[in-house]
Amino acid sequence: MSILMVKKILLDGSPCGKCAQAEEMLRKRGYWDRIDSVVYAEEGNAESAGMKLAAEYNIELAPFFIVKNEDEPDRIYTRVFEFIKKELESIQPEEKLTGDFDIAAANVEFANLEPGEILAGIQNMFGPKLVLAFSGAEDVALIDMAAKNDMPFSVFCLDTGRLHGETYEYLDTVRNHYGVSIEIFTPSPLLLEPFINEKGLNSFLKDGHSECCGIRKVEPLGRALKNRKAWATGLRRDQSPATRGDLKYAEYDESHPGIDDRPLLKINPLLDWTSQQVWDYIRINEIPYNPLHDIGFRSIGCQPCTRASRPGEHERAARWWWEDSTKRECGLHLK
Ligand code: SF4
Repeated sequence: MSILMVKKILLDGSPCGKCAQAEEMLRKRGYWDRIDSVVYAEEGNAESAGMKLAAEYNIELAPFFIVKNEDEPDRIYTRVFEFIKKELESIQPEEKLTGDFDIAAANVEFANLEPGEILAGIQNMFGPKLVLAFSGAEDVALIDMAAKNDMPFSVFCLDTGRLHGETYEYLDTVRNHYGVSIEIFTPSPLLLEPFINEKGLNSFLKDGHSECCGIRKVEPLGRALKNRKAWATGLRRDQSPATRGDLKYAEYDESHPGIDDRPLLKINPLLDWTSQQVWDYIRINEIPYNPLHDIGFRSIGCQPCTRASRPGEHERAARWWWEDSTKRECGLHLK
């Protein structure tokens, strides 16, 4: 087998940024030696070797990869993740985890990728040690992307015991639609029983949601993230400028340990998507969604702490609406 990579040179003579990133990714993962030759497509020069190949294979994107095997048709890839997955995946995921994950480089690289490509990259690295947190519309979009990448991943859901009936039904819909197993984590009775016996079921209305969320969500999350190497969330920056404005595509989770002396990675592939983009993705791909969205619910959490949104209201305004907007986080993503 021989592999040829075509890189682009821009009209002003500068190298193509996407091509450089693809090369960096291949180098970082120890695959660069598998590229047998590199040729250049010079913008505006139809006679350059790369431009001739682009014309021959009818390709308009760079970089691209041509894989040749005797007696087989040539295989062409314009997406580096797909190329890695289909041609270089003979190395098992665990074996690829040699070098340290470079957070700074990942944030630069991820900013130029689609969410599905980001997921493909981390699925390729972590396999089932990557877990997706499932609850809302963003999360099901991520499950859809991860399932389409056709590589292993895990999913968990926190059942607080106070979710809407529709949400419980929806969980099973997603499980059946994708054929994925969703691991459920529930509150510890050792913490929950004394709490509700002392303060009742709705103490959050009087003294804030942190204690209840701490018991029903934060403690189970710690168990859900045990023995994982990375988790992917559906967090978006515009969900809450006050509490999510400084999110990054990749960060170390400072609240939960990883394994093998490595910190747990937290990846937010939808970081720069808007709610509209999420919903466009859901509709175009005909993904099942929580029926509560059809009756005005935009951000869905526990039943007593979520109401339908009012016209013009920010999506998070309908969560813990009796509290200050700067405190409307359940604690799952606080550092
Ligand atoms: S969202 Fe409300 S009911 Fe759910 S855990 Fe938090 S405070 Fe408790």
